[in-house]
Amino acid sequence: MSWTTIWDGPLTVKSLARIQSITAAIHRKTRKGERGECWIWTGTVVKGFGKMTVEGRQLYVHRVAWELANREKIPEGASILRSCSNLTCVNPDHLSLGCQGDIMSSLVARDKWPAAKLTREKVLQIREKLKFMTQKQIAKEEGLNVATIGRIKRRESWKEI
Ligand SMILES: [Zn+2]
Repeated sequence: MSWTTIWDGPLTVKSLARIQSITAAIHRKTRKGERGECWIWTGTVVKGFGKMTVEGRQLYVHRVAWELANREKIPEGASILRSCSNLTCVNPDHLSLGCQGDIMSSLVARDKWPAAKLTREKVLQIREKLKFMTQKQIAKEEGLNVATIGRIKRRESWKEI
């Protein structure tokens, strides 16, 4: 697994030109659907993930796409989670930063890891946060799927608390 980043310092005019050329390289090899749909990488795919060469370095396209869209570096060891099931999707709207291993994160993202990460205390905290935060904000903060938060809110799960 490579944690390589495209950022090597603060944004300057020179680095902005570089970023634009990397962005253009991604767009040239990406098939975009309608608004909100997946952007499918049509370039090199290694073990299911899109890869591209940037200045001689092999990078994961979805990680580069996330860094470009968010203008920040992916922290060491962090993963990029996707809300869709296309491994080659590079639509930044479908990508978000996570802190666990890729496999577990994608399980969380698809909501197939429901009770394991949730404890009674955690659910109570989430209920408390629901009073002043949106479900999306909480999901991001807790590393959970929005649907999971929704079910807690509607008491479809953890209704005994
Ligand atoms: Zn997608």
